Amino acid sequence: MNRQSTASSLPAPVLPHVWEPASAQEAITLKRQYGADSAYVAGSTLLRTQWEGGLLTIPAHMIRLDTIEGLNGIMEDEQQIRIGALTTLRECGHDHRLRIHGNTCSTACRHIAAPAVRNLGTIGGNISSAVGDMIPALLVHDARLVWMDTEHHPSEYEQELVDWLEQVRVGRRSLYAVLLGIVIDKSGPDTAPDLHNHQNSAPFHTSLSSEPSWREISFYRKVGRREAFTPSLVTVAFRALMNREGVLVNVKAAAGGGAGLAMRLSRCEQLLEGKVYDPRYTAELAALVEKEWVSYSDPFASESYRRQTAGNLLAAGLWETLHQEMERG
Ligand SMILES: Cc1cc2nc3c(=O)[nH]c(=O)nc-3n(C[C@H](O)[C@H](O)[C@H](O)COP(=O)(O)OP(=O)(O)OC[C@H]3O[C@@H](n4cnc5c(N)ncnc54)[C@H](O)[C@@H]3O)c2cc1C
Repeated sequence: MNRQSTASSLPAPVLPHVWEPASAQEAITLKRQYGADSAYVAGSTLLRTQWEGGLLTIPAHMIRLDTIEGLNGIMEDEQQIRIGALTTLRECGHDHRLRIHGNTCSTACRHIAAPAVRNLGTIGGNISSAVGDMIPALLVHDARLVWMDTEHHPSEYEQELVDWLEQVRVGRRSLYAVLLGIVIDKSGPDTAPDLHNHQNSAPFHTSLSSEPSWREISFYRKVGRREAFTPSLVTVAFRALMNREGVLVNVKAAAGGGAGLAMRLSRCEQLLEGKVYDPRYTAELAALVEKEWVSYSDPFASESYRRQTAGNLLAAGLWETLHQEMERG
């Protein structure tokens, strides 16, 4: 106020308006009203970096999402875990239910940025950025996103993460949708495999009657430009069920990292599905990732370097994880 009246030769400062909606519908109404001159703000850790770096213009209207009730915290029922979009990465990384039922997600949260950023940064902001390191970890859990997209229709809807990524890839994501939460199905050591997908798998069939016990194996690996507190170059996630004979089923693998869109690696999954892991798969798997994963070049790393790194990360991660499993017995 004072500055405006005394320094008359200077233009009045233009401050952003900070809106505090009480519901997702109110947030959407504001976003529709102010369009490109507004932004949803969660922890603002990414937005601030983009504003300060000149990658994005500071919008005239900031729409806070942390004033909306019910978007914070982790809930569970018998089948699912639901993570509120405004839950911080720190809370996700420390949650024991996520550690048990969403191991790769829990690991990913603990490896994003530094603790100070994780205290503010949210899982919803990480996903909404479309390039967050959480995304490969969530892909191997077949995560679904819970959205609200219209000011007039109060009901939320679920969408497969993989489908939303495709919308982003083709430039058709909604500019107004508010991410409310993330849902993953619970998994555990005795999760039964989906038998219908394995009718042609000989090792699977022979082991099935005598081997009821399947345990989950999973890992998440990240390579950055420095060892810690830095955005990733490449991230990979892997998840499967394995029986005592070493047969792998329900294999899921994904890669992402940097400013590239994450994706499931279906050819790698097919290579391993229903098989007992054999060391000769290591080179084959690395080569398949290199072929399958679509990445990009920037001043820090070429596309071929990223692809090769993703291949090596996935192959080495699987080899290490299986060895640890064997040692555990
Ligand atoms: C030093 C530093 C290191 C970092 N390292 C990493 C890293 O290693 N890996 C990584 O993945 N990220 C990293 N980040 C980026 C960022 O901190 C995380 O992605 C974080 O999770 C973003 O969450 P946020 O709540 O701060 O999002 P914000 O900055 O508030 O928002 C990010 C984007 O998502 C939108 N948005 C947020 N929430 C919603 C919602 N609920 N619905 C719709 N749109 C929404 C915003 O409009 C904005 O476009 C780093 C950032 C910094 C500053």
